[in-house]
Amino acid sequence: MGAILFPTHSQYLASLGAPHPLSPFPCVSSLPPSLSLLHLLPACSSFDCLQPKPQNAITVAVSSRALFDMVKDRKIYEEEGVETYVKYQEENENLPLNPGPAFYFVKALEQVNARLRELYPKDEELFDIVLMTNNHAQVGVRLINSINHYGLSIERFCMTGGESPIGYLTAYLTNLYLSADSEKVQEAIEAGIASATMFTANKDVPYSDKQLRVAFDGDAVLFSDESEQIVKEHGLDRFFEHEQMNENKPLAQGPLKGFLEDLGKLQKKFYAKNERLDCPIRTYLVTARSAASSGARVLKTLRSWGLEIDEALFLAGAPKGPILVKIRPHIFFDDQMFHIEGAQQLGTVAAHVPYGIGQKYYKSKPKDDTVKK
Ligand SMILES: [Mg+2]
Repeated sequence: MGAILFPTHSQYLASLGAPHPLSPFPCVSSLPPSLSLLHLLPACSSFDCLQPKPQNAITVAVSSRALFDMVKDRKIYEEEGVETYVKYQEENENLPLNPGPAFYFVKALEQVNARLRELYPKDEELFDIVLMTNNHAQVGVRLINSINHYGLSIERFCMTGGESPIGYLTAYLTNLYLSADSEKVQEAIEAGIASATMFTANKDVPYSDKQLRVAFDGDAVLFSDESEQIVKEHGLDRFFEHEQMNENKPLAQGPLKGFLEDLGKLQKKFYAKNERLDCPIRTYLVTARSAASSGARVLKTLRSWGLEIDEALFLAGAPKGPILVKIRPHIFFDDQMFHIEGAQQLGTVAAHVPYGIGQKYYKSKPKDDTVKK
């Protein structure tokens, strides 16, 4: 898994071929044969529905079970079969679904879009949310009604009918894919797409409605898992030694680096309008590394990428949950399930990035034995 390469967004675009600058659709000629043009049409067919072109937008694809709480619905599907499930959804199509784990994150993205539109009315560098679902088309009515009920601006729908989402994610030039289905997320990560499995927080925590807050773990999330491998295979002492020796050698990029870059690009648009102090995006690094022994390499790596992070928290192995309660991020990305579970227990919406050596370790060892650094 360490060999997965995560391209920059521009490399990703180049690999797909340059789309026609006036085309509202991404590289239609390069779409997989199974993709019809219908999948790419915005849900509203009117031409006054102005969606940014995928090559300009920061596309965030969310699954229906990440956006809405569909736990009960899923149970009906699993226990009573597809026919009963579809009938249930049809009968309840005017009853809005409750918010799911990605809901407040999506709301916060839309708040940022609203601020960007005020400052740059004609600009297309905005978040574009795509609903990616393998639900039956009949269930689409309830999803649309729920989206309208909450006033969400989700114009693009992709109903995959049970097919793998990878072709669609690629076609939409997806910058981030969030789903409740860990297998699909794993598949997307292996295809080099930034993705995470969403988990609902165990408590309701109020979120900032003025600022999008995104927290990232470092190793195997923003960075590759190269240093994580040293911890897991040779222990902490060797890791500290290794990180100090390599302090000036930037770490390779991990699966979520591109998304931090996207956030940074938008932050700069606010800074350019003198809104640094009132920026509606704030980013956090929440790492188990300690500042003194292994922090410098991380900060120098970010600097070498030309990326800023607003706050860097080095916890030296302390649990992440309590600090995340103070930050109250709309989403927290981590590759290790024990950090996800710890965050979740204290009320943080956590997103698991299934990448790197930690996955193998988690599956083969009991939780309590996991080495923290
Ligand atoms: Mg990590």
